[in-house]
Amino acid sequence: MGKVNTVLGPIATEDLGITAMHEHIGFGLPGCDLDTQWWKKPEEAFDVTIQKLRRFREHGGKTFVDCTGIGNGRDVEYFQVLSRRTGVNIVAVTGFVAGDSALPYFRNQSVEYLTDLFIHEIMVGIDGTGAKAGAIKVGVSRGGKLSELDKRIYRAAARAALKTGAPIITHLCVDAETAIAIFDEEGLPLDRVLMGHADDGGYLDEERDNLIANLGGWVGFDTIGYDSEMEGAPYWSRPRQDRVEHFLRFLAKGYVDRALISADANCCALGWPGLKGHSVNYLFEEFLPDLRKAGVGEEVFEQLLVHNPAKILTMQEPRSFESFEKTEALLKRN
Ligand SMILES: [Zn+2]
Repeated sequence: MGKVNTVLGPIATEDLGITAMHEHIGFGLPGCDLDTQWWKKPEEAFDVTIQKLRRFREHGGKTFVDCTGIGNGRDVEYFQVLSRRTGVNIVAVTGFVAGDSALPYFRNQSVEYLTDLFIHEIMVGIDGTGAKAGAIKVGVSRGGKLSELDKRIYRAAARAALKTGAPIITHLCVDAETAIAIFDEEGLPLDRVLMGHADDGGYLDEERDNLIANLGGWVGFDTIGYDSEMEGAPYWSRPRQDRVEHFLRFLAKGYVDRALISADANCCALGWPGLKGHSVNYLFEEFLPDLRKAGVGEEVFEQLLVHNPAKILTMQEPRSFESFEKTEALLKRN
């Protein structure tokens, strides 16, 4: 039986249920906790977060993957409290949203160091909580190309994925060929990677979406709800109907078994205002109704929100005995 790491411990794959694959309890750049402009009292942040998670639960949502990397507001003890209070499984990640949002402390570290760091958070736990990461986050820094640091992080993530069986989730899939080449060099099959934000308004490329899907990778339509019609919409937003049509074209090509959907929303953003009114619940309240109107059936929703997330999130057996020995040695050292 497969298992998935959540902040309250491993659960059986069958217990994941409806899963939002790319969300945030609260994301911000390193130092965001010291911000004064957008800072909220802990009880205010808790209040809005609990409300959104409870509504997610009412919609049938069961698992919330928090894609906030190290130093970006990830707070596992807080996640544990939220999970206990709401009954929503929360999966935390190791890794970094992108090189340019990593804490300076980690920026000059080697591939080997970063690999060990990711393995530690998956096999031993995060921040001494014992809560183990369920996925590895990597991403592309601003500019549209993987930076040298991004590449180091991707390579380390690939090695840690092979050694632990955890999947990789990317922030952006621009410059996909470079990312795929790194995963390929390291021997990581692309079905262990969710190439995220294919629907990001700044980096659309349907040929690239096809390439990822044809290679067996997962294509993330996971900035759903950043609609340019909304007040204060950030630069990566796009017209609501454009995104719906983009997604329908992807489904029409027969890629329902390669697609994952999510909203990339913040329950309570840190150090920036977030997008007012946007939450994970946009999926149930706006996006699925749009798809229903276009004739998409409930069995497709079940595949997108239950079966596909279960496939990628289930921890795989470590690929080789040699790598497993190294992992064991790491575990002993800790
Ligand atoms: Zn995100």
